[in-house]
Amino acid sequence: MKVPFATFSPMHNEIRAEMDASYKKVLEAGRFIQGEECHRFEEEFANYCGVKYCVGVASGLDALYLVLKALEIKTGDEVLVPSNTYIATALAVSYTGALPIFAEPEIGTYNIDPSHIEEKITAHTRAIIAVHLQGRTADMDAINRIAQKYNLTVIEDAAQAHGAKYKGKKAGALGHAAGFSFYPGKNLGALGDGGCITTNDEVLADKVRALGNYGSDYKYHHIYQGVNSRLDEMQAAFLRVKLPHLDKWNDFRRRIAKKYLTEITNPLIKLPVDSSEEFEHIYHVFVIRCDQRDELEKFLSARGIGTLKHYPIPIHLQKAYDDLHIHQGSLPIAEEISATVLSLPMYYGMKDEEAEYVVKALNDFRGASNL
Ligand SMILES: *Cc1c(COP(=O)(O)O)cnc(C)c1O
Repeated sequence: MKVPFATFSPMHNEIRAEMDASYKKVLEAGRFIQGEECHRFEEEFANYCGVKYCVGVASGLDALYLVLKALEIKTGDEVLVPSNTYIATALAVSYTGALPIFAEPEIGTYNIDPSHIEEKITAHTRAIIAVHLQGRTADMDAINRIAQKYNLTVIEDAAQAHGAKYKGKKAGALGHAAGFSFYPGKNLGALGDGGCITTNDEVLADKVRALGNYGSDYKYHHIYQGVNSRLDEMQAAFLRVKLPHLDKWNDFRRRIAKKYLTEITNPLIKLPVDSSEEFEHIYHVFVIRCDQRDELEKFLSARGIGTLKHYPIPIHLQKAYDDLHIHQGSLPIAEEISATVLSLPMYYGMKDEEAEYVVKALNDFRGASNL
């Protein structure tokens, strides 16, 4: 048997006719940027998240960058980010001229550890980006409490958390503003790049909208030196087809996760913390840890099972951030996570036999000796 890390086919096959109709609708309407589909999607997604405003942008990276820019975060400022996120979180900060400051995650949940945040706060700190990594929200009450104490703004990086909930509230409604990505592989993905911000702050929403549209508040009138970052009509139309299915797709992932969590019993494998009523996980990825990770990867690959590492090199050790001079050993938890994580196959439409095949392979792993 072969089990890919992920495939879109079962999802797209189910909604193929509606996707085809969307393409025709947009083609016939003849408006390809900032038309009806984009506006409708923004309303529907804001509704879904339980916030007042959603503004479509070109990517998740742009969403975070434009929020930071709208908050006037700039050179000389510092923004706290978890050390084990996707590099986009840190790049969004760097683009504003501010410094990303890396805080350690909790090893059990992979999310930023609130007890390691305060030690990183300085007189220059302006904001905390709470990443909801892997589809599990960060510990938002603790983060918001620290932010309030030091007068910092909390921004959610919800790129992996469409539909995830914290104490009954959706990701996107848990901080001052949030950035989402609609990169195809996300739980809600377009057929290309896309993103959005969500917020209850009308001034911020208007400013992000203008900044992403060449700094224009109305045609040929420019109030900021903005950029071009908009969600296309075509992608918005596809996202409108997908959004009503999102909860079902997330439930499906939780069911696969449940299977992995209850049936993988090999002591060499460390499982992630399960979804709970307080932290409703959407399992964007299902990440295990193993001290012999590279051997496990080979072992699974030899059995036709696709895996990925989210992420193999922590940001502070990436060449791109050489200039920060943060050395190996300075963020030991993030480094340990990078050295041991492996993401298992997880996708809508995965068959029970496929999940069972993955479980069996993991339970059969005996370490380097049985390669
Ligand atoms: C995917 C992702 C991003 C960036 O989104 P793009 O749409 O690819 O720019 C940012 N943060 C996290 C945590 C992500 O997973």
